[in-house]
Amino acid sequence: MLQTPMSIKQMSAVVRERGGMPSPLIEVDNLRTHFFGNAGLVKAVDGVSFSIPRGKTVCVVGESGSGKSITGRSILNQVPRGGRIVSGAIRYRPDPAQPPLDIVKLDPRGKEMRALRGAQIGLISQEPMAALSPFHTIGNQMVEVIRLHLKMGRREAREHAIETLALVGIPRPAERMESYSFQFSGGMRQRVCIALALSCRPKLLIADEPTTALDVTTQANILDLLSRLQADFNLSVLFVTHDLGVVAEIADEVVVMYLGKVVETGDVDTIFHAPAHPYTKALLQSVPRMHAGGATRLPTIDGMVPSPFERPQGCGFHPRCAMAVHGLCDREVPEPITISEGHVASCLLHGENP
Ligand code: SF4
Repeated sequence: MLQTPMSIKQMSAVVRERGGMPSPLIEVDNLRTHFFGNAGLVKAVDGVSFSIPRGKTVCVVGESGSGKSITGRSILNQVPRGGRIVSGAIRYRPDPAQPPLDIVKLDPRGKEMRALRGAQIGLISQEPMAALSPFHTIGNQMVEVIRLHLKMGRREAREHAIETLALVGIPRPAERMESYSFQFSGGMRQRVCIALALSCRPKLLIADEPTTALDVTTQANILDLLSRLQADFNLSVLFVTHDLGVVAEIADEVVVMYLGKVVETGDVDTIFHAPAHPYTKALLQSVPRMHAGGATRLPTIDGMVPSPFERPQGCGFHPRCAMAVHGLCDREVPEPITISEGHVASCLLHGENP
């Protein structure tokens, strides 16, 4: 059969894909998601750019109020009430030979976005109970999602659901199809949520603090499971967390956010061994170290994250920054500076400033 000739642009995308520099699955470009309320405007996500490569895990890390969860929700085009994406692009490119689809341009409630959300972009969150209906069996919920998006008959969808439950380590999956969410333990419930999110074999999984509410052993098991599933399905994962221990374990690339902005991005080795931004350094210093000994006081970052209504002038981090230069950091907004290939930091001490 004759194929439609590819455009130069499409060919270059394929060449990039074959030449070891794959085009990313998602490119977030200058994204702004704002909230409008009686108390004022909150720029929860304020000019954020990064990309998610195919088959890799990108961890978005930062304290609460950094905008990391809203960034994840924006990629799903599912911003909580009171907020909306005001500008920017989220280019989703499932097929590198095809032009990307800009998620920002889709109607959040429209058919196309609902199909994407269910079938190609999965979500797991911190609270599995919120994602699962207490009134329907696990099996019914999974079969409904699978039938809707994969157009399978009831029997085939049921087989697919059992297979997916087995994949995520639910014992006796056929039997557990008849259970309700409250009949599972916390860790098993999170596995069910992962099964639900993966039931249509998405290309991207957004995991928003999925292990925060779990004990340490269950957390380790869930992280192992996610790593295994990612390798098996060549999944891209956007993992939102405040926990640098989790980042060290699972990230390929790291995006550090503060007050709605990306302050540093790089691969996980660079971020842990050669961080360039004072905020990243402060976060790393506040991680407990096994060898530090009981008498050593754990360093914390000075001060609090400012109220979103009172964003500091200049660099948003300057009131807490040990390196801040008076007259510079409180006036000028830092632009992203490339430190080395793939390593970018937004700090006035890099680039042209001494
Ligand atoms: Fe600190 Fe100034 Fe760099 Fe901001 S720009 S992180 S205040 S040194």
